[in-house]
Amino acid sequence: MTKSKTSCLAFSHHDHKRCQNKLLSAARDLCESRNLRLTERRKQVLQILLQSHQPIGAYDILAQLNQGQARIAPPIVYRALEFLLEEGLAHRIECKNAFIGCVHPGHQGATQFLICKDCDKVAELENPVSALQEDARNVGFVIDHSVVELTGTCADCQQNVG
Ligand SMILES: [Zn+2]
Ligand SMILES: [Zn+2]
Ligand SMILES: [Zn+2]
Repeated sequence: MTKSKTSCLAFSHHDHKRCQNKLLSAARDLCESRNLRLTERRKQVLQILLQSHQPIGAYDILAQLNQGQARIAPPIVYRALEFLLEEGLAHRIECKNAFIGCVHPGHQGATQFLICKDCDKVAELENPVSALQEDARNVGFVIDHSVVELTGTCADCQQNVG
């Protein structure tokens, strides 16, 4: 746990309110430095994603946005999500068909996910080129999309069972 301490933020006990605020302001800084606009809508969607370290589906995001009298159409949510994914502020969790806010916004390179099937929390790992990718490269295969999602039980949930 020492090397990937930050990456496993989701599984560590922490003040999530602070974590959420920190990630939001990191996202703002990142957009500013890239000359991108973190519009109100994009920010709202990111805020929803960062409510917890559990992934949330597009329709649940939409439902939250439309809690008041707002009537936001699905494409608007998808566009905001697309922006967040492209800029590395959020990730798609394929096996859940859902999204999470990134815990270290703007990072480059491979991301692997640890998904707890009990508490539904998702942690990010950032291992550099894996043996798998190396093998692909050795046979001249060019990877354009790679998804590494490990499902299991986090340390906390293992304790709860016992
Ligand atoms: Zn947190
Ligand atoms: Zn990330
Ligand atoms: Zn768990």
